[in-house]
Amino acid sequence: MKAERVLAAVRVGPERIELEEFPMPEIPDDGALLRMEVAGICGTDVKMYEAPQVTEPVIMGHENVGVIERAGAKFVELKGVSEGDRVFLEHYVPCFRCEWCHRGEYRHCWATDWRSNPDALRYGYTPASRPPHLWGGFAEYLYLPWNAVVHRVPDQVSADLAGIATPLSNGIEWALFDCEVGFNTSVLIQGPGQQGLSQVVACRQAGASAVIVTGMARDAARLEVAKALGADATIDVDSEDVVERVREITGGDGVDVVIDCTSGAGTDPILVGIQALRRRAGTLLIQGELDAFPEFPIRELTEKAITVKSARGHSYRACELALEQLASKRFPLDLLTTHTFGLDDVDLAIRSVGGKGEPDVIHVSLLPWMARGRAS
Ligand SMILES: [Zn+2]
Ligand SMILES: [Zn+2]
Repeated sequence: MKAERVLAAVRVGPERIELEEFPMPEIPDDGALLRMEVAGICGTDVKMYEAPQVTEPVIMGHENVGVIERAGAKFVELKGVSEGDRVFLEHYVPCFRCEWCHRGEYRHCWATDWRSNPDALRYGYTPASRPPHLWGGFAEYLYLPWNAVVHRVPDQVSADLAGIATPLSNGIEWALFDCEVGFNTSVLIQGPGQQGLSQVVACRQAGASAVIVTGMARDAARLEVAKALGADATIDVDSEDVVERVREITGGDGVDVVIDCTSGAGTDPILVGIQALRRRAGTLLIQGELDAFPEFPIRELTEKAITVKSARGHSYRACELALEQLASKRFPLDLLTTHTFGLDDVDLAIRSVGGKGEPDVIHVSLLPWMARGRAS
Protein backbone atom coordinates (compact mmCIF):
# COMPACT_ATOMS: atom_id res chain seq x y z
CA MET A 1 0.00 0.00 0.00
CA LYS A 2 1.33 3.44 -0.87
CA ALA A 3 1.60 5.97 1.89
CA GLU A 4 -0.67 8.85 0.96
CA ARG A 5 1.20 11.32 3.10
CA VAL A 6 4.88 12.11 3.05
CA LEU A 7 6.69 12.86 6.29
CA ALA A 8 9.28 15.62 6.18
CA ALA A 9 11.40 17.61 8.61
CA VAL A 10 10.76 21.29 7.92
CA ARG A 11 12.99 24.15 9.05
CA VAL A 12 10.43 26.63 10.32
CA GLY A 13 12.93 29.18 11.67
CA PRO A 14 16.51 29.52 12.90
CA GLU A 15 17.44 26.24 14.65
CA ARG A 16 13.82 25.11 14.60
CA ILE A 17 12.69 21.91 12.91
CA GLU A 18 9.15 20.52 12.87
CA LEU A 19 7.92 17.25 11.41
CA GLU A 20 5.13 17.81 8.93
CA GLU A 21 3.16 15.71 6.49
CA PHE A 22 2.65 16.63 2.87
CA PRO A 23 0.34 15.09 0.28
CA MET A 24 1.86 12.41 -1.93
CA PRO A 25 2.39 14.30 -5.20
CA GLU A 26 0.73 13.42 -8.49
CA ILE A 27 3.47 12.28 -10.85
CA PRO A 28 3.08 13.72 -14.36
CA ASP A 29 4.36 12.05 -17.49
CA ASP A 30 7.60 14.03 -17.33
CA GLY A 31 8.13 13.75 -13.56
CA ALA A 32 9.20 11.13 -11.03
CA LEU A 33 9.09 10.28 -7.36
CA LEU A 34 12.31 9.52 -5.50
CA ARG A 35 12.19 7.36 -2.39
CA MET A 36 14.92 8.89 -0.25
CA GLU A 37 17.73 6.75 1.08
CA VAL A 38 20.41 9.16 2.25
CA ALA A 39 20.64 12.92 2.61
CA GLY A 40 24.17 14.03 3.39
CA ILE A 41 24.58 17.00 5.71
CA CYS A 42 27.37 19.52 5.21
CA GLY A 43 28.70 22.76 6.65
CA THR A 44 26.31 24.76 4.49
CA ASP A 45 23.39 23.09 6.28
CA VAL A 46 24.84 24.24 9.58
CA LYS A 47 24.99 27.84 8.35
CA MET A 48 21.52 27.73 6.78
CA TYR A 49 20.09 26.19 9.95
CA GLU A 50 21.58 28.74 12.33
CA ALA A 51 20.81 31.78 10.16
CA PRO A 52 18.47 30.87 7.28
CA GLN A 53 18.75 33.11 4.24
CA VAL A 54 15.46 31.74 2.91
CA THR A 55 13.12 32.71 5.74
CA GLU A 56 10.04 30.74 4.64
CA PRO A 57 9.72 27.14 5.90
CA VAL A 58 12.04 24.85 3.94
CA ILE A 59 12.61 21.09 3.82
CA MET A 60 16.40 21.07 3.95
CA GLY A 61 18.60 18.34 2.48
CA HIS A 62 20.53 19.10 -0.69
CA GLU A 63 22.87 16.07 -1.00
CA ASN A 64 20.40 13.38 -1.93
CA VAL A 65 20.49 9.73 -2.91
CA GLY A 66 17.46 7.53 -3.40
CA VAL A 67 15.65 5.02 -5.55
CA ILE A 68 13.22 6.07 -8.27
CA GLU A 69 9.90 4.75 -7.05
CA ARG A 70 7.68 6.03 -9.83
CA ALA A 71 8.54 7.66 -13.13
CA GLY A 72 6.45 8.96 -15.99
CA ALA A 73 7.21 7.64 -19.47
CA LYS A 74 8.54 11.01 -20.64
CA PHE A 75 10.83 11.27 -17.61
CA VAL A 76 12.26 7.83 -18.37
CA GLU A 77 12.84 8.85 -21.96
CA LEU A 78 14.45 12.18 -21.05
CA LYS A 79 16.66 10.95 -18.24
CA GLY A 80 17.59 7.41 -19.16
CA VAL A 81 16.75 6.16 -15.69
CA SER A 82 13.69 4.20 -14.65
CA GLU A 83 11.82 2.84 -11.66
CA GLY A 84 14.08 0.91 -9.30
CA ASP A 85 17.27 2.78 -10.25
CA ARG A 86 19.35 4.26 -7.45
CA VAL A 87 20.37 7.80 -8.31
CA PHE A 88 22.40 10.64 -6.92
CA LEU A 89 20.41 13.83 -7.37
CA GLU A 90 22.15 17.16 -7.88
CA HIS A 91 20.60 19.95 -5.85
CA TYR A 92 20.51 22.21 -8.90
CA VAL A 93 17.22 22.29 -10.84
CA PRO A 94 18.39 24.11 -13.97
CA CYS A 95 16.69 25.46 -17.10
CA PHE A 96 18.43 23.23 -19.67
CA ARG A 97 18.30 26.11 -22.15
CA CYS A 98 21.10 28.48 -21.20
CA GLU A 99 24.73 28.25 -22.14
CA TRP A 100 25.77 27.07 -18.67
CA CYS A 101 23.26 24.25 -18.85
CA HIS A 102 24.48 23.12 -22.24
CA ARG A 103 27.96 22.90 -20.76
CA GLY A 104 26.79 20.76 -17.83
CA GLU A 105 27.56 23.68 -15.50
CA TYR A 106 24.12 23.72 -13.90
CA ARG A 107 25.55 25.38 -10.79
CA HIS A 108 25.78 28.66 -12.72
CA CYS A 109 22.27 28.52 -14.21
CA TRP A 110 20.05 31.41 -13.18
CA ALA A 111 17.00 29.17 -12.82
CA THR A 112 18.60 27.44 -9.83
CA ASP A 113 20.49 30.42 -8.37
CA TRP A 114 18.48 31.09 -5.22
CA ARG A 115 20.78 33.93 -4.21
CA SER A 116 19.86 36.16 -7.14
CA ASN A 117 16.56 34.66 -8.35
CA PRO A 118 13.63 34.54 -5.92
CA ASP A 119 11.86 31.96 -8.12
CA ALA A 120 14.85 29.66 -8.31
CA LEU A 121 14.37 25.96 -7.70
CA ARG A 122 17.02 24.13 -5.71
CA TYR A 123 16.72 21.09 -3.50
CA GLY A 124 17.14 22.02 0.13
CA TYR A 125 16.55 25.73 -0.47
CA THR A 126 13.12 26.04 -2.11
CA PRO A 127 10.22 26.92 0.23
CA ALA A 128 8.00 23.97 1.16
CA SER A 129 4.95 26.06 0.26
CA ARG A 130 5.78 25.68 -3.42
CA PRO A 131 3.84 22.78 -4.97
CA PRO A 132 4.39 19.87 -4.97
CA HIS A 133 6.28 20.75 -1.79
CA LEU A 134 8.86 17.94 -1.75
CA TRP A 135 11.99 19.98 -2.54
CA GLY A 136 14.30 18.73 0.21
CA GLY A 137 15.95 15.47 1.21
CA PHE A 138 14.97 15.48 4.87
CA ALA A 139 11.77 13.73 3.81
CA GLU A 140 10.55 10.27 2.88
CA TYR A 141 10.14 11.25 -0.76
CA LEU A 142 11.37 13.90 -3.19
CA TYR A 143 9.63 15.15 -6.28
CA LEU A 144 11.66 15.09 -9.51
CA PRO A 145 10.56 17.39 -12.35
CA TRP A 146 11.75 16.91 -15.94
CA ASN A 147 14.72 19.18 -15.29
CA ALA A 148 16.06 17.40 -12.21
CA VAL A 149 19.68 16.28 -12.71
CA VAL A 150 20.17 12.64 -11.78
CA HIS A 151 23.20 10.38 -11.94
CA ARG A 152 22.82 6.63 -11.84
CA VAL A 153 24.74 5.19 -8.88
CA PRO A 154 26.91 2.19 -9.86
CA ASP A 155 25.63 -1.09 -8.38
CA GLN A 156 28.71 -1.68 -6.27
CA VAL A 157 28.27 1.64 -4.42
CA SER A 158 26.13 1.37 -1.29
CA ALA A 159 23.61 4.06 -0.42
CA ASP A 160 25.80 5.00 2.54
CA LEU A 161 28.84 5.54 0.38
CA ALA A 162 26.81 7.34 -2.28
CA GLY A 163 25.96 9.79 0.48
CA ILE A 164 29.43 11.31 0.13
CA ALA A 165 29.12 11.82 -3.63
CA THR A 166 28.61 15.57 -3.08
CA PRO A 167 31.77 16.35 -1.09
CA LEU A 168 33.71 14.11 -3.44
CA SER A 169 32.26 15.91 -6.49
CA ASN A 170 33.33 19.18 -4.92
CA GLY A 171 36.77 17.69 -4.30
CA ILE A 172 37.12 16.84 -7.96
CA GLU A 173 35.69 20.14 -9.15
CA TRP A 174 37.81 22.35 -6.92
CA ALA A 175 41.11 20.46 -6.88
CA LEU A 176 41.22 19.02 -10.39
CA PHE A 177 39.16 21.37 -12.54
CA ASP A 178 39.55 24.70 -10.73
CA CYS A 179 43.09 24.37 -9.37
CA GLU A 180 44.37 21.94 -12.02
CA VAL A 181 45.97 19.61 -9.51
CA GLY A 182 47.70 16.83 -11.42
CA PHE A 183 50.96 15.00 -11.79
CA ASN A 184 53.52 16.21 -9.25
CA THR A 185 51.41 19.08 -7.90
CA SER A 186 51.97 19.99 -4.26
CA VAL A 187 48.81 20.87 -2.35
CA LEU A 188 47.97 22.29 1.04
CA ILE A 189 44.44 21.40 2.14
CA GLN A 190 43.26 23.43 5.09
CA GLY A 191 40.68 21.74 7.30
CA PRO A 192 40.17 17.96 7.68
CA GLY A 193 36.36 17.83 7.55
CA GLN A 194 34.43 15.82 4.96
CA GLN A 195 35.27 18.45 2.33
CA GLY A 196 38.98 18.61 3.07
CA LEU A 197 39.25 14.81 3.20
CA SER A 198 37.48 14.55 -0.15
CA GLN A 199 40.09 16.91 -1.59
CA VAL A 200 42.79 14.52 -0.34
CA VAL A 201 41.23 11.71 -2.38
CA ALA A 202 40.88 13.85 -5.51
CA CYS A 203 44.49 15.12 -5.25
CA ARG A 204 45.93 11.68 -4.55
CA GLN A 205 44.07 10.13 -7.47
CA ALA A 206 45.23 12.98 -9.73
CA GLY A 207 48.89 12.32 -9.01
CA ALA A 208 49.84 15.05 -6.54
CA SER A 209 53.40 14.81 -5.25
CA ALA A 210 52.63 16.22 -1.81
CA VAL A 211 49.28 16.40 -0.07
CA ILE A 212 49.46 18.29 3.23
CA VAL A 213 46.42 18.63 5.48
CA THR A 214 45.99 21.06 8.38
CA GLY A 215 43.69 20.75 11.37
CA MET A 216 43.36 21.83 14.95
CA ALA A 217 44.40 19.86 18.05
CA ARG A 218 40.85 18.55 18.38
CA ASP A 219 41.01 17.18 14.82
CA ALA A 220 43.59 14.48 15.68
CA ALA A 221 41.28 11.62 14.62
CA ARG A 222 40.37 13.35 11.34
CA LEU A 223 44.04 13.94 10.57
CA GLU A 224 44.61 10.19 11.01
CA VAL A 225 41.86 9.59 8.44
CA ALA A 226 43.60 12.08 6.14
CA LYS A 227 46.74 9.92 6.35
CA ALA A 228 44.76 6.74 5.73
CA LEU A 229 43.38 8.39 2.58
CA GLY A 230 46.88 9.20 1.38
CA ALA A 231 47.92 12.55 2.84
CA ASP A 232 51.71 12.78 2.99
CA ALA A 233 51.79 15.06 6.02
CA THR A 234 49.44 16.64 8.52
CA ILE A 235 49.92 19.84 10.47
CA ASP A 236 48.35 20.78 13.79
CA VAL A 237 47.75 24.53 13.51
CA ASP A 238 47.44 24.84 17.29
CA SER A 239 50.98 23.69 17.98
CA GLU A 240 52.88 24.07 14.70
CA ASP A 241 53.80 26.90 12.33
CA VAL A 242 51.99 25.98 9.13
CA VAL A 243 54.12 28.04 6.74
CA GLU A 244 57.35 26.76 8.26
CA ARG A 245 56.18 23.14 8.06
CA VAL A 246 55.02 23.57 4.45
CA ARG A 247 58.43 24.97 3.47
CA GLU A 248 60.13 22.07 5.23
CA ILE A 249 58.00 19.48 3.47
CA THR A 250 58.37 21.09 0.05
CA GLY A 251 62.12 21.67 0.27
CA GLY A 252 61.68 25.41 0.79
CA ASP A 253 59.49 26.02 -2.26
CA GLY A 254 56.00 26.26 -0.85
CA VAL A 255 53.01 24.54 -2.45
CA ASP A 256 51.49 24.96 -5.92
CA VAL A 257 47.91 24.97 -4.66
CA VAL A 258 46.12 25.86 -1.43
CA ILE A 259 42.52 24.76 -0.89
CA ASP A 260 40.63 26.29 2.02
CA CYS A 261 38.15 23.85 3.53
CA THR A 262 38.05 25.41 6.99
CA SER A 263 34.92 26.67 8.67
CA GLY A 264 34.60 29.65 10.97
CA ALA A 265 38.35 30.25 10.97
CA GLY A 266 38.18 33.91 9.89
CA THR A 267 40.92 35.44 7.75
CA ASP A 268 43.73 33.19 9.01
CA PRO A 269 43.52 30.36 6.46
CA ILE A 270 43.70 32.82 3.56
CA LEU A 271 46.65 34.72 5.04
CA VAL A 272 48.47 31.46 5.73
CA GLY A 273 47.55 30.20 2.27
CA ILE A 274 49.08 33.22 0.55
CA GLN A 275 52.31 32.71 2.49
CA ALA A 276 52.39 28.94 1.97
CA LEU A 277 52.13 29.22 -1.84
CA ARG A 278 55.29 28.97 -3.91
CA ARG A 279 57.19 32.08 -4.95
CA ARG A 280 55.16 32.64 -8.15
CA ALA A 281 51.93 31.66 -9.87
CA GLY A 282 50.30 29.47 -7.28
CA THR A 283 46.55 28.97 -6.97
CA LEU A 284 44.45 29.72 -3.92
CA LEU A 285 40.91 28.36 -3.69
CA ILE A 286 38.75 30.21 -1.20
CA GLN A 287 35.26 29.87 0.31
CA GLY A 288 32.90 32.78 0.67
CA GLU A 289 32.53 32.77 4.43
CA LEU A 290 33.64 36.34 5.07
CA ASP A 291 31.64 39.37 3.99
CA ALA A 292 34.78 41.47 3.86
CA PHE A 293 38.50 41.14 4.40
CA PRO A 294 40.02 44.16 6.17
CA GLU A 295 43.66 44.79 5.31
CA PHE A 296 43.79 42.10 2.64
CA PRO A 297 47.44 41.66 1.58
CA ILE A 298 46.81 42.57 -2.05
CA ARG A 299 50.46 43.44 -2.68
CA GLU A 300 51.72 40.03 -1.63
CA LEU A 301 48.97 38.42 -3.70
CA THR A 302 49.93 40.27 -6.87
CA GLU A 303 53.69 40.08 -6.32
CA LYS A 304 53.39 36.33 -6.06
CA ALA A 305 51.10 36.31 -9.12
CA ILE A 306 48.57 34.23 -7.26
CA THR A 307 45.37 33.11 -8.96
CA VAL A 308 42.34 33.12 -6.67
CA LYS A 309 39.51 30.68 -7.39
CA SER A 310 36.10 30.46 -5.77
CA ALA A 311 34.73 27.23 -4.36
CA ARG A 312 31.34 26.94 -6.02
CA GLY A 313 29.70 23.52 -6.16
CA HIS A 314 30.25 20.99 -8.89
CA SER A 315 29.66 20.24 -12.56
CA TYR A 316 27.92 17.23 -14.10
CA ARG A 317 31.26 15.68 -14.98
CA ALA A 318 32.61 16.04 -11.44
CA CYS A 319 29.59 14.10 -10.13
CA GLU A 320 30.12 11.30 -12.63
CA LEU A 321 33.81 11.08 -11.71
CA ALA A 322 32.96 11.06 -8.00
CA LEU A 323 30.60 8.12 -8.47
CA GLU A 324 33.27 6.27 -10.47
CA GLN A 325 35.76 6.99 -7.71
CA LEU A 326 33.37 5.57 -5.13
CA ALA A 327 32.79 2.48 -7.27
CA SER A 328 36.54 1.88 -7.63
CA LYS A 329 36.87 1.29 -3.87
CA ARG A 330 40.43 2.51 -4.22
CA PHE A 331 40.29 4.61 -1.07
CA PRO A 332 38.86 3.60 2.32
CA LEU A 333 36.10 6.17 2.03
CA ASP A 334 33.92 4.35 4.54
CA LEU A 335 36.18 6.02 7.14
CA LEU A 336 34.27 9.21 6.36
CA THR A 337 30.72 7.93 6.93
CA THR A 338 30.73 8.14 10.71
CA HIS A 339 27.16 9.01 11.77
CA THR A 340 23.55 8.33 10.78
CA PHE A 341 20.37 9.89 12.11
CA GLY A 342 16.65 9.50 11.42
CA LEU A 343 14.04 12.14 10.59
CA ASP A 344 13.30 12.64 14.29
CA ASP A 345 16.86 13.74 14.88
CA VAL A 346 17.49 16.34 12.17
CA ASP A 347 18.28 18.98 14.77
CA LEU A 348 20.88 16.77 16.48
CA ALA A 349 22.25 15.68 13.10
CA ILE A 350 22.88 19.25 11.93
CA ARG A 351 24.27 20.32 15.29
CA SER A 352 26.63 17.33 15.20
CA VAL A 353 28.04 18.49 11.86
CA GLY A 354 28.54 21.92 13.45
CA GLY A 355 30.46 20.44 16.39
CA LYS A 356 27.64 21.00 18.88
CA GLY A 357 26.14 17.51 19.03
CA GLU A 358 27.57 14.02 18.84
CA PRO A 359 31.39 13.92 19.01
CA ASP A 360 33.89 12.63 16.40
CA VAL A 361 31.75 13.46 13.39
CA ILE A 362 33.20 13.45 9.88
CA HIS A 363 30.22 12.89 7.60
CA VAL A 364 26.60 12.68 8.73
CA SER A 365 23.92 10.82 6.78
CA LEU A 366 20.28 11.54 7.37
CA LEU A 367 18.28 8.38 6.68
CA PRO A 368 14.65 9.47 6.38
CA TRP A 369 13.29 5.94 6.83
CA MET A 370 15.45 5.01 9.80
CA ALA A 371 13.60 3.74 12.88
CA ARG A 372 10.25 4.77 11.55
CA GLY A 373 8.76 1.52 10.45
CA ARG A 374 6.23 3.16 8.16
CA ALA A 375 5.40 0.76 5.38
CA SER A 376 5.61 2.30 1.95
ZN1 LIG B 1 26.33 20.53 0.91
ZN1 LIG C 1 20.28 27.04 -17.47
